[in-house]
Amino acid sequence: MRFQVSVPEYKQVDVKLNPAKKVIDLKNAACRQLRIDPQLTKLLLNGKRLNEDSQLSRLKIAPSTVVVADYLWARQLLVWGAEGQKKLREATVFLAGAGAIGNEAAKNIAMLGVGRILIADRDRVEMSNISRMIFFKPKDLGRNKAEALAENLQRQYPYVETAAYRGKIESMPLKFYLDSQVVLCGLDNAESRIFLTQTCRKYSIPLIDAGIIGLTGRVHSYIPPDDTCPICAFPPNQYSNIVGLKNPCDAPLEQATVPSFATSISLVSAILSQEAVKVILGVEDHSKNKQWPEKSGEPLRSILFLDLKNNRYSTMKLERNTKCIVCGTEGTAKETSFRDEFPLKRLKSTHGEDEIRKKLHPNAKQLTFFLETSHGTRRMDNAMEMKKHARVGDYLRILAEQQNGELHESILHIV
Ligand SMILES: [Zn+2]
Repeated sequence: MRFQVSVPEYKQVDVKLNPAKKVIDLKNAACRQLRIDPQLTKLLLNGKRLNEDSQLSRLKIAPSTVVVADYLWARQLLVWGAEGQKKLREATVFLAGAGAIGNEAAKNIAMLGVGRILIADRDRVEMSNISRMIFFKPKDLGRNKAEALAENLQRQYPYVETAAYRGKIESMPLKFYLDSQVVLCGLDNAESRIFLTQTCRKYSIPLIDAGIIGLTGRVHSYIPPDDTCPICAFPPNQYSNIVGLKNPCDAPLEQATVPSFATSISLVSAILSQEAVKVILGVEDHSKNKQWPEKSGEPLRSILFLDLKNNRYSTMKLERNTKCIVCGTEGTAKETSFRDEFPLKRLKSTHGEDEIRKKLHPNAKQLTFFLETSHGTRRMDNAMEMKKHARVGDYLRILAEQQNGELHESILHIV
């Protein structure tokens, strides 16, 4: 029997199957050709759902009948196709902060189909959070925000894998950062925001930063290493003022001095989330040919300011600040680390360590190896130890001391 299976307005494929097969076999065969996920699809005939256990011969349907694949992301395929949806599905996004922006952004990127979301926050859920944070319910009061968000998000969108880190982002294992294609920042303090910008620049991870005060907000996309970083905007004499300051949007009730609204949070987070999608879909093209694909669009290369009260929306182009404490000539992340992949098999071979030395730092005086895993950092004192502990998915961080005493860092993802 022959069937035509279509995702309307997107694609139609021909599937030939033995009539003794079941509807589920037809679905799986069609999904393979359409390159969509069979678990997120149902087949419809004349608007009615087909029972997946029914035998095709018993359906009494005419040959070449068009069956519609009712796919979770059918409407998005119209814009970026199965290829783009696959990129979202395979992406890992790190949400720094599970407060107002974190909740909204988590909802958006989960609905758009991002496959893995890592969340970090050290604060607890309070009653006044519930009016602005969609995943927190009264039963979550007192729980860690990252854990409550990860659990409730996963329950609502079971196709998303979530992981929570309960604590300061400064002490989170480096592997979490290295695993992420993009970092979304909705942090509640400037000190952590500086740390995050530093880490993103050093390891070349795009960062989308957002903030809200009352009915005003701002969003800034940072594609390291060439873009102007979010910290460049602060003149050096203001660092002492911004470090330690709480963002009033997520501040505990006793420290809340400015209003906060679900509407401005929602608008800013929507822009933040779409910026993340642009990065996931287009950053590879951009790094190859310095152009963003037409389908996904180009991320903001300036700060977007939003004012819901007066309906004013404007952008401001940032100038690179050579005295920036992060990306300036003396900045903490003035150097970026080289990143590449390395097969576990070759690492475990007799000459694994020599190969790394020749490939990355042939003239170095000394190399020091660290293994970065989800449990944290572990120094590797010799090649034997490295071979014993390294696993696929971990990262090898190599510090190379050059003849002139300078240190260069490289990261190898073990595949
Ligand atoms: Zn900077």
